[in-house]
Amino acid sequence: MYIILDIQAQLTYISAFESFDSKARLRQTRFPTIYNYLASLVESKKRIQNLIDEFGEAESISISITGSTDYDKQIMTDSAYLHEYNNKDIVKDLKHEFDIPVIIEQDCILDAYAELNNLGENVDEYGLITVTYGIGGVYVKKEDSKYLVFPTELGHTIVVPNGLECACGQRGCVEAYIGGVNMKDRFLTDPKNIEDYRVWEEAVDFLAIATSNFMMAFPTKNIIYSGSSISTIPALKNGIKSGLEKRMRVYKQPKIRVSSLSNQANTLGALKHIELYKNNSLVRL
Ligand SMILES: [Zn+2]
Repeated sequence: MYIILDIQAQLTYISAFESFDSKARLRQTRFPTIYNYLASLVESKKRIQNLIDEFGEAESISISITGSTDYDKQIMTDSAYLHEYNNKDIVKDLKHEFDIPVIIEQDCILDAYAELNNLGENVDEYGLITVTYGIGGVYVKKEDSKYLVFPTELGHTIVVPNGLECACGQRGCVEAYIGGVNMKDRFLTDPKNIEDYRVWEEAVDFLAIATSNFMMAFPTKNIIYSGSSISTIPALKNGIKSGLEKRMRVYKQPKIRVSSLSNQANTLGALKHIELYKNNSLVRL
């Protein structure tokens, strides 16, 4: 059995899977994300132990977290939402408790792994752009039996010079405009409830600019959008293709698809992460 701990900005999901098959989920529990690190650790340990008591021994634990990770050190170093988790050694803390292998990775990168069994299954390379409470971008290239993974800080590419202040300290980042948390702060409602079409026209354009910027570094033939905002807000989902056509002139329009994995993408990606790690097939750049 494999345990997945998926710590998102608002909710934390803990799941048990019998195998690497995404359909082999035994149980999933969730609770509102606890912003105090130690309190969160206590709650997570308790729930993981409950799963082990119910389903038997766990082989390993894979963590998805919303923040930049130092992959070699296996530590989350910088999160705009989980400040108290920054540089805390959650991998070591869980290893110490359960005495099994534990791995951690940033949520957006795991979204890209989740697509290996979904929209990225039959292509040899793709760009994955996450549009949810934050914005992320990852390029994945399959080479022989290896997966080359290029993370980016797409959310912090600038779309408006001297624009809105972003949590990262810069001004005018795309995340400051279309990241779900920032939209909620600006419009004082969940983005799903915003009906003003001008807001969405602008959001589509900013996403198109960010996608075009991504393609200048990684001229991919396949763009997969993932994340709860783009999968649940029709104006974004339906507008992005023509939005990108208007903005991008240098390269041919890539094939654009929107994933339906939504808020389960991190969990499924973390499960895939164990498989890739075990098979030694990841080249994480
Ligand atoms: Zn920023």
